[in-house]
Amino acid sequence: MEVPARIVLASANPKKVAELAAILADLDVRTAAGDPVELVPRPEEVPEVVEDAPDFVGNARLKAVALADATGEVALADDSGLVVDALGGAPGVRSARYAGEDASDADNVERLLAELSGVADRSARFVCVLVVRAPGGDELVVDGRVEGRIAMSPVGDAGFGYDPVFEPAEGDGRTFAEMDAAEKSAISHRGRALRSLVAALAG
Ligand code: IMP
Repeated sequence: MEVPARIVLASANPKKVAELAAILADLDVRTAAGDPVELVPRPEEVPEVVEDAPDFVGNARLKAVALADATGEVALADDSGLVVDALGGAPGVRSARYAGEDASDADNVERLLAELSGVADRSARFVCVLVVRAPGGDELVVDGRVEGRIAMSPVGDAGFGYDPVFEPAEGDGRTFAEMDAAEKSAISHRGRALRSLVAALAG
């Protein structure tokens, strides 16, 4: 797939969109004509897709296909979440709704810490799958992951979601919520998936 002039983004989460846009700008992704890629938010009239696939790839694909079909443009969708070994992979695809349909980030973190109370194995990873889908059906699928452990209590206020309780194994003991955006992206699941995507588009 060639680097498209415009990519419509499926995510409605402004913090995720901001992370994606910052990383893509940093990588200076350009079309064959040398122009920067224009990132377009999902048009308001395109409804959100029900994310009911059993895995990250399935959900990312549902979103990308629906958006490419609705807009006639190249669409980029991501699905991501936290996979905790001692919880059999939970919260997984239910990461955003772990403590209930309208759960806040703080509610989800609270439930996670409660589930892990007294559990010795706190190993976990963030996973991010990206699907780029052209209206004609061309598709690119990449993923990225980062290994780490769940802290005993939340630390830091940067980032979003489970960042305050995720200590990446490659870090220095700080959580993602104690890192600035560039530090997080250098090792994060989303940063890695995006760099794979850009490499695949460039190749
Ligand atoms: P979705 O990809 O929008 O379905 O939701 C992913 C959910 O996983 C988010 O709402 C967060 O709870 C969690 N998540 C995904 N990526 C991150 C991250 O980089 N930091 C913290 N939490 C994340």
